[in-house]
Amino acid sequence: MNFTPVSKEAFAILSACSRSRQLFGISVDPVSKNQFKFVWSFKLTQDQAIREGTDQRSVRGQVVPDENFNFCPYCGGQTFAQCGKCGHFICYNEETTECPICHVRIGGITEASDFSFGGGGY
Ligand SMILES: [Zn+2]
Ligand SMILES: [Zn+2]
Repeated sequence: MNFTPVSKEAFAILSACSRSRQLFGISVDPVSKNQFKFVWSFKLTQDQAIREGTDQRSVRGQVVPDENFNFCPYCGGQTFAQCGKCGHFICYNEETTECPICHVRIGGITEASDFSFGGGGY
């Protein structure tokens, strides 16, 4: 499996799989001021997730998956959405009824190519 190296600007965001309800992180690398690349996703324990989530930074822009991006590390789902309430990314599918992180109903979740997100530094 190939791994695309990330730049010094890269950071990680907290995400969750709505199918398995497990947490994972996504390495995000800025391509330009308002475009961001999803490089790699990796499984997280609850403890790691809390640490990842502490250093908040907010950016807004378009997300493109890297050619080596492995998508959801739990179920392989390739559809990501951002929860409109907690702002976290979730791997979601047509069976998803609520955000696995803050438990808001699916109506609050928007699937879009324009995202804002906060994440911990590397
Ligand atoms: Zn998943
Ligand atoms: Zn949420």
